[in-house]
Amino acid sequence: MSTRGNLFIVSAPSGAGKSSLISALLKDKPLDKQVSVSHTTRQPRPGEVDGQHYHFVTVEQFKALIAENAFFEWAEVFGNYYGTSRTVIEQTLANGIDVFLDIDWQGGEQVKKLMPEAIGVFILPPSKDELARRLTGRGQDSQEVIDNRMAQAVSEMSHYKQYDFVIVNDDFDTALTDLQAIIRSQRLTMASQTHTHNDMLDDLLAN
Ligand code: 5GP
Repeated sequence: MSTRGNLFIVSAPSGAGKSSLISALLKDKPLDKQVSVSHTTRQPRPGEVDGQHYHFVTVEQFKALIAENAFFEWAEVFGNYYGTSRTVIEQTLANGIDVFLDIDWQGGEQVKKLMPEAIGVFILPPSKDELARRLTGRGQDSQEVIDNRMAQAVSEMSHYKQYDFVIVNDDFDTALTDLQAIIRSQRLTMASQTHTHNDMLDDLLAN
């Protein structure tokens, strides 16, 4: 019994709760799910750990990785570079593990082109007021950064139609249940089940 993992693109405007949802999903360290740790040139925020939240690199190191074709996708977001490692994704999927990409719409677009079977999930906040409240409440960024992200949020949200699923993160537990339902359903598609239960199906259908 083996199957290839599914690749999930999870995008949202900053403050919609995307990182919290992914963290909650992986809280108990499930063996069949993994988040991809991106490379970025932005400075670490307080509490962020190199290699765990991001691989923090210089612009020179990032450009060298682009030249080596090390990225599955990369984009410039809020003036910093972000990229997803190609080998980690390919190996993890081959091992039957679902991979979650916490990336912006530009990255999502590139991934969909390269791997059309990747599943896009867009997370929306319930309202602009609530989004503003969450961005301010986080308390980790300056007002200038918050204002900038609020403006960027509208631009990010305008791409929600490029995704396969939409989750409105009003109540966190409901949003998490919705995300889990999407993941579970992808394990139950005809293609996935045919692959997973190959031997069983041969046996069931033999005369
Ligand atoms: P933050 O700096 O707040 O952690 O992330 C800013 C934005 O960059 C978020 O929308 C996040 O999803 C996106 N991002 C993080 N890693 C990657 C990546 O590897 N590729 C792309 N395209 N976007 C990323």
